[in-house]
Amino acid sequence: FFIAIGLNDKKIYGEYHVTDTTPVLEIRDLHKAYGQLEVIKGVDITAHKGDVVSLIGSSGSGKSTILRCANLLEDSQQGEILFQGEAVKWKGDGMARVPADAKQVLRIRTNLSMVFQQFNLWAHMTILQNVMEAPVTVLGRDKEEVEAKARLYLEKVGIGDKCDVYPAQLSGGQQQRAAIARGLCMEPQALLFDEPTSALDPELEQEVIKVIKSLAEEGRTMLIVTHDMKMAADISSHVVFLHQGLIEEEGAPDRLFGAPKSERLKQFLSSTV
Ligand code: ADP
Ligand code: MG
Repeated sequence: FFIAIGLNDKKIYGEYHVTDTTPVLEIRDLHKAYGQLEVIKGVDITAHKGDVVSLIGSSGSGKSTILRCANLLEDSQQGEILFQGEAVKWKGDGMARVPADAKQVLRIRTNLSMVFQQFNLWAHMTILQNVMEAPVTVLGRDKEEVEAKARLYLEKVGIGDKCDVYPAQLSGGQQQRAAIARGLCMEPQALLFDEPTSALDPELEQEVIKVIKSLAEEGRTMLIVTHDMKMAADISSHVVFLHQGLIEEEGAPDRLFGAPKSERLKQFLSSTV
């Protein structure tokens, strides 16, 4: 048996030995620019197994960019991204760096399921087909097993009766729950949510919040960008407030919402309720 001594002590006999102290996702000193515009200016975020980390901040502060960098939908210029202790390998440097290992990118991306604001379901596929598509075609899993799981996850998010309809036949809240089931069916190590409720009417928002809350209670690891301070306060283990590409303040939700220190955070919180 193995006892972790220090966070860097995880490479044994050339294999990554993932322990409970190894974060699922770790972002260190991330810098990201679009051309001349530097939008992420040195950000560190760590999510251990079971953590629910919420990212809050004004529009344009860099929340979505961080999520997109984390699952390698965007390149970045500087800093490290580690998935279960395994650092993303880059080639080139500075402005031109890109991931070096396509298999690693696939492994990381399929283990960090992303749920988008606009659901992004495939319109020409039924709900069941939407949920089954990636596990079958990307992961090469057995179709029948995937179908059984897909039905379970759709049941879990409360739309088990919608397997055979098309996305356009569902409400926004149902579509977003289908998108969550699709993410779950990949059986990822973590879920990344980018404003999952902001395209929804308030009454539909609640049904999606309920699902996300139940995932938090199950101990799933999640990184959630949200404008919903109530949900963030309710389900997060850690909250990060971003301002212009930097972490302005972070902490446990009770402390951060109950006793914010930074003037910018105080102002932000008073403007969001
Ligand atoms: P948030 O999600 O917090 O609203 P974003 O991460 O979307 O913020 O954006 C951060 C900054 O990066 C903004 O100034 C935005 O205009 C800029 N930005 C985002 N995506 C692009 C892009 N593809 N090209 C150029 N600038 C971008
Ligand atoms: Mg955004």
